[in-house]
Amino acid sequence: MSSVSIDIPTLQINGNDLQNFVRFIYKHEKLLKEFGAIKVQPNIDCKLALKKRPKTLTLNPIMKKIVKINENVNIYSSQTINHINESTQKHLMVTNEYSFWSSLSASNKEQRDLNISLSSNTSFFIEKTSSVYFDLHRIPYQSLLKLGGKKLTNQFVPCVKRAHGPGAIFPLISARQRLFSIDYHHEGGDHHWYIIPSDQREALQNLVDQQNPSLCLDHGQLFIDPSILDKNYIRYHRIIQHANEFIVLSAGALAQSYTEDISWSESISFALPSWIEEGHADIPIIPCRYHIEQNCSVDSIDVALFRQELIQKYVTSYLKTAPNDEPPVFIGLLFF
Ligand SMILES: [Zn+2]
Repeated sequence: MSSVSIDIPTLQINGNDLQNFVRFIYKHEKLLKEFGAIKVQPNIDCKLALKKRPKTLTLNPIMKKIVKINENVNIYSSQTINHINESTQKHLMVTNEYSFWSSLSASNKEQRDLNISLSSNTSFFIEKTSSVYFDLHRIPYQSLLKLGGKKLTNQFVPCVKRAHGPGAIFPLISARQRLFSIDYHHEGGDHHWYIIPSDQREALQNLVDQQNPSLCLDHGQLFIDPSILDKNYIRYHRIIQHANEFIVLSAGALAQSYTEDISWSESISFALPSWIEEGHADIPIIPCRYHIEQNCSVDSIDVALFRQELIQKYVTSYLKTAPNDEPPVFIGLLFF
């Protein structure tokens, strides 16, 4: 597969920075915005508040398959089904990226289910542990969303995601009201991500509209072969996410992925000041019938809560690192 796309950057994080992950992300926001996402690998000294016992959550795959929206174009849309096609799913082999996309394109007659499930307000992170241990629940509270008080932050809960086998598909999605989001890979097969930065939305929407103007980019309705993006000069970035790695998605970014095998992952949304300052929060929410998440709340967040002086105060108190917080010796060595 010839492609001009390059991977998103991968950053290492230490235990200290992971305790205030939102501040770390803010520090690297320029990179995040440019690529639409960054991958973050925790160092050996990072402690995560995770349950040690095996994951026994039982989830049924959502009743959706994908089909080509037009016979000659490798753009797929998800459609509701009445039964799960277990025979095809069991024999799927995902050896490499090329074979995944070509088998998908050739699987016209066989039903290809998404083979995933989502469980909102579920988490494998343990709450109320020492702040030394990273807990995904804390992210919204560390973020700009805290300006909306408990009433707002309580709406932001982790969502567990299950890939039920090789070749499971997480179709194109963006976070609620174009927020930022973090995805943590707990265990299992690698996830192959495709990220489309916010500034490419218009080009992508035009491309999709040419095929079918009623399709929406944000709610898990589309799955797009990257060769289509190449052909249409739509910039996107790839990354392979292994277990124990984070993918951070920028405000308004769109992302889709497929998995090499069964896996567990988990995600949550949050905000940085640029979500307000760059206008992502103001994009009107058009009611849409394609929400893939069952319990998806579509109430829009009141942007008036985020007054300029409050944002400034938040930045000064929580995001700006004091000069003596930095280890100057190491910074010099690492970056020059
Ligand atoms: Zn939609």
